[in-house]
Amino acid sequence: MTTLTRRQLLQGAAVAGAAGAAAVAVPSVAEAASARARQPGDVGLLYDSTLCIGCRACVTKCKSANNLPVDAMNINGVPYDAPDDLNATTKTVIQVAAQGDRFAFVKRQCMQCLDPACVSACMIKAYQKGPDGVIGYDQSRCLGDRYCQIACPFNVPKFQWSKAVPVMVKCEMCRHRKEGPACSEVCPRQAVVFGKVPDLLAEAKRRQAASPGKYLARIYGEHEVGGTQCLYLTAADVPFETLGLPKVDGTPQPHLSTSIQHGVYKGMIAPVALYAAIGLAVWRNTRKGDEEKKP
Ligand code: SF4
Ligand code: SF4
Ligand code: SF4
Repeated sequence: MTTLTRRQLLQGAAVAGAAGAAAVAVPSVAEAASARARQPGDVGLLYDSTLCIGCRACVTKCKSANNLPVDAMNINGVPYDAPDDLNATTKTVIQVAAQGDRFAFVKRQCMQCLDPACVSACMIKAYQKGPDGVIGYDQSRCLGDRYCQIACPFNVPKFQWSKAVPVMVKCEMCRHRKEGPACSEVCPRQAVVFGKVPDLLAEAKRRQAASPGKYLARIYGEHEVGGTQCLYLTAADVPFETLGLPKVDGTPQPHLSTSIQHGVYKGMIAPVALYAAIGLAVWRNTRKGDEEKKP
């Protein structure tokens, strides 16, 4: 199937009308909903909430490794980076979950779903699953329609609202770094470790077996939404829901995003309007910019 870049799509919408462009870009239902089994080469993260001390070294290192700015926050006039959730400048975050007089930490980032809803929701294939199962994002293709954000069961992709040409932001497992993920590299407690998913599952089970009664006898991500490549351990008395991880069953989510596409794109009316509007806005902004540059 032919795919287009964002530039080509916008040009197509503005100059020739969007219908042709949209018709080329929308994947078939079978393609959008295809399932995927775990592969031996899949890579991911294992996060162990019982070992995490909330130092946030992983958050800081993630920002520097991904060239992301600090969140604007001042404490006594000193800039301090303390995001409380994933956002357009934060690909991973440490949150605190309170339970009575106890608290626990939880790290959040893209779960790298085996059968990712973001991939099937993206009509122009800005998201693609790589050979190691990591979901990469190509901003040159992205239209900014945010269907990936709506489809994601973990509310992960974030939109750069403040940018003139916004793109989506999410963890791509530091695929640009030959050293691998920055967050696991700096964790002083091995609370987050990187590796092949079969090894991570074995390590999670090893930790559970080595400390009877310490852990909840479940690994979050082993089965949720059909399986994810980021896996979680928690203390026996701190359910995953208390950590803020959503209660989802083992059903892969792409069928939901496929439904969104089919509803929105029924008859191809919405894409025509959407791309025409985007094309018009881009054309007007470009013309305005050109006129402002004139002496
Ligand atoms: S967590 Fe969300 S963004 Fe990440 S792979 Fe799954 S559906 Fe996509
Ligand atoms: S793998 Fe990289 S981008 Fe993802 S959370 Fe860790 S440091 Fe951030
Ligand atoms: S670096 Fe490790 S211990 Fe520190 S907050 Fe991150 S996961 Fe927790």
